[in-house]
Amino acid sequence: MVYLSLLFLLHLCFSSLFQIVLAVHPSSVLVRVRASCAHFVNPVALRQWVTWALQEQAIYKFFCPRCRRHWLWQEVRKLALLNEHDRNTLEQKIIEIGMREREGFINFTKCPRCGRLVERFELTNLCTPCLVCSERTARVYRFCWACLKDWSGPSPRNDSCASPLCASQAALLSCLLVTAALDSEVNGCPSLRACPNCEALVTHTLDGSVQVQCPNCGLYFCYRCLGRNGDHHGIAGSCIMSPRQNLTGRNWSPVDYFND
Ligand SMILES: [Zn+2]
Ligand SMILES: [Zn+2]
Ligand SMILES: [Zn+2]
Ligand SMILES: [Zn+2]
Ligand SMILES: [Zn+2]
Repeated sequence: MVYLSLLFLLHLCFSSLFQIVLAVHPSSVLVRVRASCAHFVNPVALRQWVTWALQEQAIYKFFCPRCRRHWLWQEVRKLALLNEHDRNTLEQKIIEIGMREREGFINFTKCPRCGRLVERFELTNLCTPCLVCSERTARVYRFCWACLKDWSGPSPRNDSCASPLCASQAALLSCLLVTAALDSEVNGCPSLRACPNCEALVTHTLDGSVQVQCPNCGLYFCYRCLGRNGDHHGIAGSCIMSPRQNLTGRNWSPVDYFND
């Protein structure tokens, strides 16, 4: 208790998910942060441990050393008082590990607003809060885990958010990449594309040309760069691969097509 009376408690504002209390000894030698499980940790030691675990051991799940409660990455990042540079380096490492072990990685995603890595904590709820964005705007910011748009509609839900584009957008973001012959122009492209005109979902049969025709509106487009009607952005056959797409919700109508 004598020790406690010496502590200067600094309450940092965080969302209701967890609260971190920073306890600073007057001499500034002892710094402890309190985790969601109520145990105190030394941020410097935690930072060293997390860096070593990620860089050397490819460990990306962290638990309280006392009670073994799982600390989500967004909490670890706070507890370890990571600066911007360390955060970027370590999050890049998590992404690298995730690429190798895809199973584990499905529980991490980047917040669509701030781009920071968020670890999922409710596996049965797609509605996901981002602490960083919530703190920044002083109101809870939530996004949809499936479609990565701002959350709409009631929660919890585990099928989709209220956006009518949710299922299609989620499919575009999560589909596997095409594995075709290395010299194939569609190799490495997402296995689903949205037609650049009407946004109907299209797959490539892996036969024939990189040009496909949308079964909905009839547009011919390049499956790789999404250029329309032979309009490639590059030397023939080596156009720049368009990344995974974001749907706009624009609906196809014949007028749009003929105006193009
Ligand atoms: Zn604990
Ligand atoms: Zn965010
Ligand atoms: Zn959604
Ligand atoms: Zn179309
Ligand atoms: Zn192309």
